[in-house]
Amino acid sequence: MSARILDGKALAGRIEDSIRAEAASFSRVAGRPPRLVVVLVGDVAASASYVKSKAAAAARVGIDAEVVRVPASADTQTLVELVRALAREEQGSVDGILVQLPLPAHVDTQAVLDSVPADRDVDGFHPENAGLLSQGRPRFVPCTAAGVQRMLVDAGIATAGREAVIIGRSDIVGKPLALLLSGRGEGGDATVTLCHSRSDDLAAICRRADILVAAVGKPGLVTAGMVKPGAAVVDVGINRVADATASGGSRLVGDVDFAGVSAVAGWISPVPGGVGPLTVAMLLANTLLAAELRLGRRA
Ligand code: NAD
Repeated sequence: MSARILDGKALAGRIEDSIRAEAASFSRVAGRPPRLVVVLVGDVAASASYVKSKAAAAARVGIDAEVVRVPASADTQTLVELVRALAREEQGSVDGILVQLPLPAHVDTQAVLDSVPADRDVDGFHPENAGLLSQGRPRFVPCTAAGVQRMLVDAGIATAGREAVIIGRSDIVGKPLALLLSGRGEGGDATVTLCHSRSDDLAAICRRADILVAAVGKPGLVTAGMVKPGAAVVDVGINRVADATASGGSRLVGDVDFAGVSAVAGWISPVPGGVGPLTVAMLLANTLLAAELRLGRRA
């Protein structure tokens, strides 16, 4: 069997098309486009590259995105004050605020994230938004988790009544995805197992999965022997590894042994071109939602 590809890039393009239309409609009514501010601390190459693709995607759909660059030496208080100032901005025109992670080790990341007001929290990390999601009435859902669910729904992969296994229990990916897949309704109603670094016999648990999601950050973690034939395998991991074929170069891979697992799975998402573009598309969707909620266009 050769797995069908879950093409996140193509789906993200279709999502962008609909957001572009909605953003134009918002702009006509509000007299300004939806506005996103991204705070980028320091000069970590991967973070700069993620921020660049988020800003480029925003520009493509008519969302005004500004990147505020802060030196790596900034302390927690400076960052908290910066975020509060953005939220207070005179005309109140900043709809979404995103603090790109990771922050430098000396910064209290939780304190900085907590300073983003719940109604501008387009990353969905605020306790109020996490609470709403856990109660089954989501508002801003963490972008990667939302993207994975959207990918499954778009491909027509049934979740109701099926076994979903998620590897990785982070607040950013694994935990919110477990809530989405086990919640009621479209893309939900699955029986979810959330695995992590302390899980015993990961391979045996994974082999039960009709839907297997890897969100760890370890290349080659998921091998063909861990996958039930015909399962849908979604690879969230992003790892930079040395490229054996190029001279001294590097390339991105996920957590899944793509070649081996493709021969067993029914569906597989590639890295790059899978979950990554959907994460960005969901950020745009959350920014538009934030703008419309503030304007009273959505309840
Ligand atoms: P994290 O480091 O916060 O969490 C990793 C999780 O993996 C932890 O819960 C840990 O318990 C678990 N884990 C570690 N080793 C394990 C093992 N051997 N077996 C089972 N579980 C193990 O990471 P994160 O922020 O959730 O990100 C996970 C991966 O997803 C990273 O590679 C990250 O770059 C990637 N990511 C991708 C996107 C995207 O848009 N595609 C977005 C966010 C994160």
